[in-house]
Amino acid sequence: EFIQKYANHPTYIPPRGPELHAKNWQTEAALRMFLNNLTDEVAEAPADLVVYGGTGQAARTPEDARKIIEVLLELEEDESLLVQSGKPVGKVRTHPEAPRVLIANSNLVPHWANWEYFNDLRKRGLIMYGQMTAGSWIYIGSQGILQGTFETFAACGDKYFEGDLRHKLLVTGGLGGMGGAQPLAATMAGATFLGVDVDPDRIKKRLETRYIDKMTHDYEEAKAWVLEAKERGEAVSVGLVGDIGDVLERLIQDNITPEILTDQTSAHDPLNGYVPNGLSLEEAKALREQDPVKYKELSLRSMARHVGFMLELQGRGSKTFDYGNNLREFAQQGGEPDAFQIPGFVPEYIRPLFCEGKGPFRWAALSGDPEDIRVTDEALKELFPENTHMIKWLDEAQEKVAFQGLPCRICWLGMGEREKAGLLFNQLVREGKVKAPIVIGRDHLDCGSVASPYRETEGMKDGSDAISDWPLLNLMSNAAGGATWISFHHGGGVGIGYSQHAGMVILADGTDRAERCLRRVLHNDPAIGIFRHADAGYETAQENAREFGLEL
Ligand code: NAD
Repeated sequence: EFIQKYANHPTYIPPRGPELHAKNWQTEAALRMFLNNLTDEVAEAPADLVVYGGTGQAARTPEDARKIIEVLLELEEDESLLVQSGKPVGKVRTHPEAPRVLIANSNLVPHWANWEYFNDLRKRGLIMYGQMTAGSWIYIGSQGILQGTFETFAACGDKYFEGDLRHKLLVTGGLGGMGGAQPLAATMAGATFLGVDVDPDRIKKRLETRYIDKMTHDYEEAKAWVLEAKERGEAVSVGLVGDIGDVLERLIQDNITPEILTDQTSAHDPLNGYVPNGLSLEEAKALREQDPVKYKELSLRSMARHVGFMLELQGRGSKTFDYGNNLREFAQQGGEPDAFQIPGFVPEYIRPLFCEGKGPFRWAALSGDPEDIRVTDEALKELFPENTHMIKWLDEAQEKVAFQGLPCRICWLGMGEREKAGLLFNQLVREGKVKAPIVIGRDHLDCGSVASPYRETEGMKDGSDAISDWPLLNLMSNAAGGATWISFHHGGGVGIGYSQHAGMVILADGTDRAERCLRRVLHNDPAIGIFRHADAGYETAQENAREFGLEL
């Protein structure tokens, strides 16, 4: 009955309301968030179980999805489900304060950690690409990345444009699951925006969710719209259908130099993500099947051409940065030797926040009632009246962000703040101020949970970029501390071979058990970020460790 109503492939619907379907709220939370990841409004392609980020899946096959649901409905408080790359493989004996689900996605022994080997295993049904929050069941639609993108664009504005992005043009490629947050983040930060995507359906989806203002297939029309808006200082966003390389080439020919330039095409996956220059979507799909080797070669060459144009614009004055999709590496492989002249966004803008244990804290209202999120927003504003940046974001988000799936919110909180916020939410549930429990999670893109030398750990002060002991310590601490579900992945963001990272989600259901778990997990999780950066020699992290009494 449950499967018929909520998980009739490819239609997945998270249950809403205060009633339990599983045996306790811990498993109900995992169940609802799993279904939420796959629901039409959230997932990019529910029929393929693809949530976002190229081929990032929540379960390996529809049969595995069904089995996960069946197990979660029956799982007891002293059992934990093991999920191996999207397939439920067994239950282990645990206890009520242990995680209910233990997930490992896409992990390979390093020597074999490349896309070719991985894709072969995937074709044989043995593995799945989990991206970051797809396979760990805490993707919340484009809002998740919206806050991070907003922080990044605003930090770019602070660093280079005296905090004012009006009369500034921001150009980028890729308006998919993550990249689709760019237009709204840019306009929230005050800029005029031009985003290019080869797939018109992706841009349409952003129009429907009000993340983008206008769409066209015509370069001249897009150009006229953005130049006029820029002139007037209007924060308008335009989506143009086309190949990003072609559009950058035309901007160069027309002598238009955007103030800010970046990219979020799915370059991390040269075969199943990036579309080579000159191919239609249909041609790309056919070639992918017929001749994957040729496809990859064309893809790498196109990325080299694309980055060549980015470098030209960088030379002409565009503030250019890599936005975490591994475009530089593949462009270099495709023949652009100067690709790494473009800096990564983490060392440019985000690392100082990581040194404070800050990162993307997110939560979802399991009741499904948007009012519950409004209650949490207001409670947070009261809890942190001095955090004016967070308050501005929450006000803007309340006004401009359309919810996808279960109502949720994200804001960047640091050491100390996360624990306080978690305990506050638990109190709201306990007192009945919200209608059902709340789950709290974060992206894997966080201060202490990821090793990714072309992204989160690029250019670490002590050269420890590629050491992945840190995300493993994070995983183990969150298992020991009692997160509600935890995960360890390989290849998120930048692709197979280039990253390892850990995720966690924790439930606030108003109980004493939840309070004990929240106190441990929401302390340890950001603390590891501070340990990691203090250990690498960042002085602000060392100061923060002292301030928060962390024992280094
Ligand atoms: P996605 O697959 O949903 O979207 C990628 C988009 O790029 C698609 O819409 C596709 O049509 C478009 N595209 C591909 N080739 C193109 C081309 N030549 N010209 C124009 N458009 C093209 O992926 P996503 O979830 O949006 O993620 C985008 C990238 O960002 C991925 O590489 C992902 O790993 C990375 N990422 C970045 C962050 C971050 O914080 N910066 C976080 C997570 C993921």
